[in-house]
Amino acid sequence: MNIVKRIGIRCTSDGYSRRLLKERDAEQIDLLGANPPTVFVGKWCSRLRIIRCHNSNNSFSIRRKHHATPRAVLTTPASEPTTKKRVYTFGKGRSEGNKSMKSLLGGKGANLAEMASIGLSVPPGLTISTEACQEYQENGKVLPPGLWEEILEGLHTVEKDMGAFLGDPLKPLLLSVRSGAAISMPGMMDTVLNLGLNDEVVAGLAAKSGERFAYDSYRRFLDMFGDVVMGIPHSLFEEKLEKLKDSKGIKLDTDLTASDLKELVEQYKNAYIEAKGEKFPSDPRKQLELSVKAVFESWDSPRAIKYRSINQITGLKGTAVNIQCMVFGNMGNTSGTGVLFTRNPSTGEKKLYGEFLINAQGEDVVAGIRTPEDLDTMKNCMPEAYKELLENCEILEQHYKDMMDIEFTVQENRLWMLQCRSGKRTGKGAVKIAVDMVEEGLVDIRTAIKMVEPQHLDQLLHPQFENPSAYKDKVIAMGLPASPGAAVGQIVFSADDAEAWHSQGKSVILVRTETSPEDVGGMHAAAGILTARGGMTSHAAVVARGWGKCCVSGCADIRVNDAEKVLLVGGNAINEGEWLSLNGSTGEVILGKQPLSPPAMTADLETFMSWADEIRHLKVMANADTPEDALTARNNGAQGIGLCRTEHMFFASDERIKAVRRMIMAVTAEQRKEALNLLLPYQRSDFAGIFRAMDGLPVTIRLLDPPLHEFLPEGDLEQIVNELTADTGMSEEEVYSRIEKLSEVNPMLGFRGCRLGISYPELTEMQVRAIFQAAVSMSNQGITVLPEIMVPLVGTPHELGHQVSLVRGVASKVFSEMGSSLSYKVGTMIEIPRAALVADEIAKEAEFFSFGTNDLTQMTFGYSRDDIGKFLPVYLSKGILQHDPFEVLDQKGVGQLIKIATERGRAARPSLKVGICGEHGGEPSSVAFFAEAGLDYVSCSPFRVPIARLAAAQVAV
Ligand code: PEP
Ligand code: MG
Repeated sequence: MNIVKRIGIRCTSDGYSRRLLKERDAEQIDLLGANPPTVFVGKWCSRLRIIRCHNSNNSFSIRRKHHATPRAVLTTPASEPTTKKRVYTFGKGRSEGNKSMKSLLGGKGANLAEMASIGLSVPPGLTISTEACQEYQENGKVLPPGLWEEILEGLHTVEKDMGAFLGDPLKPLLLSVRSGAAISMPGMMDTVLNLGLNDEVVAGLAAKSGERFAYDSYRRFLDMFGDVVMGIPHSLFEEKLEKLKDSKGIKLDTDLTASDLKELVEQYKNAYIEAKGEKFPSDPRKQLELSVKAVFESWDSPRAIKYRSINQITGLKGTAVNIQCMVFGNMGNTSGTGVLFTRNPSTGEKKLYGEFLINAQGEDVVAGIRTPEDLDTMKNCMPEAYKELLENCEILEQHYKDMMDIEFTVQENRLWMLQCRSGKRTGKGAVKIAVDMVEEGLVDIRTAIKMVEPQHLDQLLHPQFENPSAYKDKVIAMGLPASPGAAVGQIVFSADDAEAWHSQGKSVILVRTETSPEDVGGMHAAAGILTARGGMTSHAAVVARGWGKCCVSGCADIRVNDAEKVLLVGGNAINEGEWLSLNGSTGEVILGKQPLSPPAMTADLETFMSWADEIRHLKVMANADTPEDALTARNNGAQGIGLCRTEHMFFASDERIKAVRRMIMAVTAEQRKEALNLLLPYQRSDFAGIFRAMDGLPVTIRLLDPPLHEFLPEGDLEQIVNELTADTGMSEEEVYSRIEKLSEVNPMLGFRGCRLGISYPELTEMQVRAIFQAAVSMSNQGITVLPEIMVPLVGTPHELGHQVSLVRGVASKVFSEMGSSLSYKVGTMIEIPRAALVADEIAKEAEFFSFGTNDLTQMTFGYSRDDIGKFLPVYLSKGILQHDPFEVLDQKGVGQLIKIATERGRAARPSLKVGICGEHGGEPSSVAFFAEAGLDYVSCSPFRVPIARLAAAQVAV
């Protein structure tokens, strides 16, 4: 740390800075780390902007205006004591933290503290808080003042607990240094194991625990520390290991002798000089300091940033760092290491589900380097430790009231718990676990509702293979069923290719020997993932399950040649771009494309959803345009149709689209009416089908909305004209002239929505006639019909008034013609910002509002919904937008318009029914917003109905 110059504070021009700094008035502030050294006097606050103030430790980060990264840090003199606690120790029966402190201690740190305090055997250690990480990042990547001293104090507690000391050859203490953010980011940040070894300490360790073990630990440390902390590629160490094994004629690492490992240690130390031109840092405290910094820095590594962006993880302070006394699973055959889930995370079955490796360290299991064995191995060779493990699982499930994911190590028959957290699970697993735990009396229904994420239901609604028995002769390999569901795609061999092909609209299967965290972008882009190596808890398996993405891992039948881009299976070569199908529920790898079908509701899911329905207040409707969609929606629990886009029916057959084109091309109202008369029977029969499917539930039908050009043929002008002359019987000249009249510079803001029905009243008349003829005839057949007519794209009350009187006039006419009537509603979409602002006037004409958040977002932001793709990726990557606003509702802008319109509308008409039918109606965080804003319903696509039902229940609990 470089203290450049002490300065006095004067600030004159920036109100914000003045307010902050005034409180500190006569204080002296140090300017740290500015390069080149700079002294700011007088109006410096006008050129620098204070971005953060930590009152507890009195440190300010400042930025030069318009710069993205902090340029300098202001802090009080280092001698001033800090009041904020940043280091928390834990050990069996005593902990300074607990499970509720995840945001400060990270998930891992909080749960280690909790496990230790409820009496489980946890190796003692300390957790450096996430706030310390945030300070480190803001402090120009130097440890904040006083932190190192706090770490040493915590370390002292651990040393006293263990009677062993860092760097002491006679009583050696080795440490693990692990990351752990508040939200789990598996494998995305760094870990260092076996820290504290050097030539003296390893000799002491050898005398105590055997030479082979000591030097095995030393070479592992040199490799990991070199890779993670010093930036020396792991492959450099791996090459040396493989070369040595080859020269000794050895296949397994475990066959290396102590003297082989000693030789390897020397070679590894040389690797530091080869790669970095400097010696390996042998001072254990230096090793610890560098490792802590490396873990802090891994928070901002490209892969961690990408993972957070894919998983929409925002608002975290940083990663905590857990420094913990090492226990060893590689101390011979009475030792081992494993990971387990307290229930099966794929199916939810109540049975331990895990993997175990004898004589190994944890990273061997998690990284998928060795394919592990199941837990029965442990039961047979370490019965006592296994029994304790079972008891601990029971204690943890009872304590956390959840299915847990546990990491443990057995050192010379003694069990140590290394980690526990809520276990990631598939949708199927989540639903079964929630239902079972209610039946077991472990949780109540309201708690169970929170145990299933809306995304879990998304997985349950994912496709499966139509006929699994039909493809049996095409199964070319079997791997582990790592993440269920089915996927079909063209194979690619790198994460980059997966992303590139996906962006071209292709469905891809990513094929890898094993995946690493660097691959997350490609894994996310792929429809499915196939790996040659790795168990059920390997990186590929864990990440894929979290996303509900189909994955087959540990497929030993295949060989992956990345360089040649070819997959070898039993003498056959499958090249990049060829099609494969994967069954993630069975582990089958199938040649070619297999047909997929949508999944069915299970009994557990039905039970679970019935609980969600009991709890929620918000109604969930569906956007459905055909009788088939309406039935799917109803089967998925929709309580009505919130949006039927009538235009979609026009594409159903050649005759229909021809009639529509005649209507569009018509020059006179008479010609238009003729064309509309052709369309009427089609519309009537579609509406009748929808009313039948939704017997007893409301059906909201929107009058024609899209710009008319959407119905014209595509291609070059000549082609379009040819087609239109054939479809309409008009001359070429007439067609050309009409096209010219119809052409618009900006059709999305042009001749569409209610502007069509106002300009061509006969269009509205035809649609309304079709709706009410269908409604009355269905009603006459005993079906309960509840039609609601919705006018699109209204901006003024007069537009709505015009259409409402037209609708009511036609309805009365049809009722009198048919000798029967029924009740109905007329309302409007609110999708123009002006409509939201004059909602009180509009509500006088409307019986219901339905927010069209697609258009409302388009017009509030001024982002074309069709063209946002051109700049959205840049906006997301630069942090200008946190989400695609067409996917996740913009609560601050669009959301406020919704609140204003709801309030004003209800003030004018208290009985006003208010809902939303844009794409946001099926997005969980947006649904929560709509519920809290007091809307009556959301309407979304039929497959998202269960997700919206759950999201609505979750916001209610
Ligand atoms: C909307 O704008 O949100 C909406 C539902 O209408 P469309 O997407 O058809 O414009
Ligand atoms: Mg719209």
